Amino acid sequence: MVPMSASNAADRLTEEQVLLRDTVRDLAVARIAPRAAEIDRTGEFPEDIRQLLAAQDVLALPFPVEHGGVGGDLLTICLAIEQIARACATSSLILMVQELGSLPLLIAGSPDQQARWFPDLAAGRTLAAFALTEPEAGSDAASIRARAVADGDSYVITGTKRFITNGSVAGLITVFAVTDPDAPRHRRLSCFAVEVPAEGFRVERLEHKLGIRGSPTAELSFNAVRLPAANRIGAEGDGFGIAMATLDRSRPGVAAQAVGIAQGALDVAVAYARERKQFGQRIGDFQMIAAMLADMDAQTEAARQLLYTACGVIEAGDADAARWSAMCKLIAGDTAMRVTTDAVQVLGGYGYIDEFPVERMMRDAKITQIYEGTQQVQRLVIARALLGRPDA
Ligand SMILES: Cc1cc2nc3c(=O)[nH]c(=O)nc-3n(C[C@H](O)[C@H](O)[C@H](O)COP(=O)(O)OP(=O)(O)OC[C@H]3O[C@@H](n4cnc5c(N)ncnc54)[C@H](O)[C@@H]3O)c2cc1C
Repeated sequence: MVPMSASNAADRLTEEQVLLRDTVRDLAVARIAPRAAEIDRTGEFPEDIRQLLAAQDVLALPFPVEHGGVGGDLLTICLAIEQIARACATSSLILMVQELGSLPLLIAGSPDQQARWFPDLAAGRTLAAFALTEPEAGSDAASIRARAVADGDSYVITGTKRFITNGSVAGLITVFAVTDPDAPRHRRLSCFAVEVPAEGFRVERLEHKLGIRGSPTAELSFNAVRLPAANRIGAEGDGFGIAMATLDRSRPGVAAQAVGIAQGALDVAVAYARERKQFGQRIGDFQMIAAMLADMDAQTEAARQLLYTACGVIEAGDADAARWSAMCKLIAGDTAMRVTTDAVQVLGGYGYIDEFPVERMMRDAKITQIYEGTQQVQRLVIARALLGRPDA
């Protein structure tokens, strides 16, 4: 097999990070990879993998030690996501969304809120979800319509959220809703922690998808869902800022998923090119196949190194974090799509059937170019960092 990542020297990882990466890699190879095809075929949420990741403290990575977490930094979390995604992109989403859904609390939650919810989230007893997108508000997140109306010591939330990963299995959903429709565009929203099940909350449907098929993507309705005012995260009007700060920190997770998928596809393609013979020689010795594999390797490694650097910059609290976060997601997502498509090509007809995992990896790769901001939106974020806002 091809080495699964660059040498430790090239990655500049700490001893703890190397240990964590290798432990998760072994777990993924032994326990997750054998389940990946079945998860894809049935489209069922892999509860067994959730339990495995919880038992192995992988779901505890994003949470502080004082609340039962492991206190992993961003790069450490991304290393785990990468290794799980190399075996099964659906399974990597369990960790990704545990972080995504909890980030509003990590960023803006009060000490009381953190003490109340983090222990169950860190233990994996409760799953989190992040509910920003609506039927009419995708890339234009500031235009969401869900309303949260203050009523005494409560808020009452009414609206619809679409495409919410883990929305049907989560126990805690961070929901964004309009608290002041007349405020300037980026001050209209607030963020709330909604514990479910709750009266007025319903999972309306699950989407049938091209890839990441075992990851539930839910449409959620909130019909006058009442929650204590103490469940508001941050101040009224802070919601949009919390959502953007969350995405700055979660997009590297998507990039890590993309790098993992690309590496998984490259591993399969290399193994196949060593074995498969046509015209009396192994196909890896045809220059066109060898060049394709070399490009796939170089592109995957370039995406990985950009991701690891981005994690360091973001972790350091750099003012340019949004640009780095967008850059690594943009490059890694496009790399995953290109590398998995080429992997299918290397396997010829066998790449196109489900006897080999590369067709699944190609289908899974596509979502990394879409969610947590499309590739077009990543370019907008990068261009804004370079040029300033058009209205600035
Ligand atoms: C499987 C899956 C899981 C998801 N999980 C979650 C989740 O857990 N939580 C959540 O809140 N959301 C989630 N989403 C939603 C996801 O983040 C959105 O689908 C995504 O941000 C794009 O929004 P949209 O689908 O409405 O597309 P649109 O915004 O309608 O975009 C359509 C097209 O127009 C382009 N476009 C839009 N605006 C511009 C612009 N200004 N300039 C140039 N091009 C532009 C887009 O790039 C795209 O190509 C998920 C989506 C999917 C499919």
